[in-house]
This record gives sequence, structure tokens and C-alpha cells, in this order.
Amino acid sequence: MPDCIFCKIIAGQIPAKIVYEDPVVLAFHDLQPQAPVHLLIVPKQHLDRVSDLDETTALLAGQLVATGNRLARELGIAQSGYRLVINCNSDGGQSVYHLHLHLLGGRPMHWPPG
Ligand code: AMP
Repeated sequence: MPDCIFCKIIAGQIPAKIVYEDPVVLAFHDLQPQAPVHLLIVPKQHLDRVSDLDETTALLAGQLVATGNRLARELGIAQSGYRLVINCNSDGGQSVYHLHLHLLGGRPMHWPPG
């Protein structure tokens, strides 16, 4: 998607602090971290939002979560705990319309998030 900022990061057209890449997903640091660990895990395939997942793309959700779990272990926050978040559309707090999973950790999280 030509105007998608995360597609541009995936294509290497704009910089990001990339921490993990495989043929399906890319993970990088959030530009405005909300916690000591705040990574974004995105599928290389462009989907606008989580509600666009269907039977042909649903496995991507598992790959995002599995990558988040592995990165949490590698970053040493698996034991203390972490939060995986996907925002959907405006009321869900989505601001970038390329499906992404937030990995947040390194401090206690509060609920409800507000
Ligand atoms: P969301 O509000 O769930 O759509 O999350 C989008 C996230 O993308 C926000 O936390 C932003 O800080 C982050 N973000 C926006 N642009 C960039 C960028 N160029 N590099 C890294 N993170 C970004």
C-alpha cells in the first residue's frame, strides 16, 4: 500500500529500529513508547485492521502472537508479564491502518486501560 507507513518500514523506505524479521512478520520499536518495552509486530502482508482477518489470513494472528511471546522471553519480561494489544478502528484507538500487535512490558500495566 503506497501510503502506508508500516509498508514503507517493511520495504526499508523509512527507518525503524527493527528487532526481528522473518518472511512473514517484522517487529520494531514503537516511535512513542508507552512502556520500557514497546514493540510493534506487523505482518508483511498489508491488512488494514484486525477485523479484516478471514479464513485465508487468520494464521497471521497466531504468528504475530507467537512472535510477541518469543520477543517477550528474549527481552526478559515473560516472567514479570506483558500485554499484547491490537487496536481496531477509531473507538479501539487505532491510528495506523496496517494490522499490528503491540508488545508492552517492563512495568505494571493497569486495567481498564482508559
Ligand atoms: P495504534 O494506535 O494501535 O494504531 O498504534 C500505532 C502505533 O504506531 C503508535 O503507538 C505509534 O506511536 C506508532 N508509530 C507510528 N508511526 C511509527 C513509526 N514510523 N515507527 C514506529 N512506530 C510508529
